[in-house]
Amino acid sequence: MNTDNQTETGVSRRRALGLLALSGAAVAVGAAPATLHAADVFDPASITTPEQALAELMAGNARFVAGRTVGPNRSMARLKEVVPTQRPFAAVLSCADSRVPPEILFDQGFGDVFVCRAAGNIVTPELIGSLEFGTLVLGSKVLMVMGHTGCGAVKATIAGDAVPGQISTLYRHIQPAVDRVASRELEAVTRENVRVQARLLRTSSPVVAQLVRDKKLVVAGGVYDLATGRVTAVEV
Ligand SMILES: [Zn+2]
Repeated sequence: MNTDNQTETGVSRRRALGLLALSGAAVAVGAAPATLHAADVFDPASITTPEQALAELMAGNARFVAGRTVGPNRSMARLKEVVPTQRPFAAVLSCADSRVPPEILFDQGFGDVFVCRAAGNIVTPELIGSLEFGTLVLGSKVLMVMGHTGCGAVKATIAGDAVPGQISTLYRHIQPAVDRVASRELEAVTRENVRVQARLLRTSSPVVAQLVRDKKLVVAGGVYDLATGRVTAVEV
């Protein structure tokens, strides 16, 4: 799907403001973080469609990039609120890279995002099972596969060097993306890997496919830029 318009800061900010307004929060995005306890009234349950879920993810990233994070749902009150149950509005499959923390870069808190991580943001049976749980059972409405610039797993697969232990088991998951990019250029392969993994999710999981057909879920792609903090949409 085309998400270009949803990556525009203006649109995202309006969306974020709209969500805050809907939830009754009397705070302005961009106010000093120390005064933003009211941001905890932000309620992911107000997100009812896959489009809204994707927009909120991108709006959160726009807040992060602009230095206007609200750090929603990070209080002890929220922690206790989600003890009995969780209803994350989004699921994210990202790389395990320590520089790519989804809750921080999407400006979300406890109970908001169902995060699965593996080096190279690869799709394995275990991760499919986890993401099926996050979407079908818990109700996440967007499933974002997120690669990132400077990904060591992608770099190593392109190089094909011998590595110790079982690190090379990652290669076979990323190799299809390498094979599809004639230039073997790192960032191009990284984008292609997001497409390959997203396609794999949609085709190998009848659960995900059905949720998408029922318009209860959208599978989206993105690449996080280590240098800017920005997530750029990748059409998948
Ligand atoms: Zn990585």
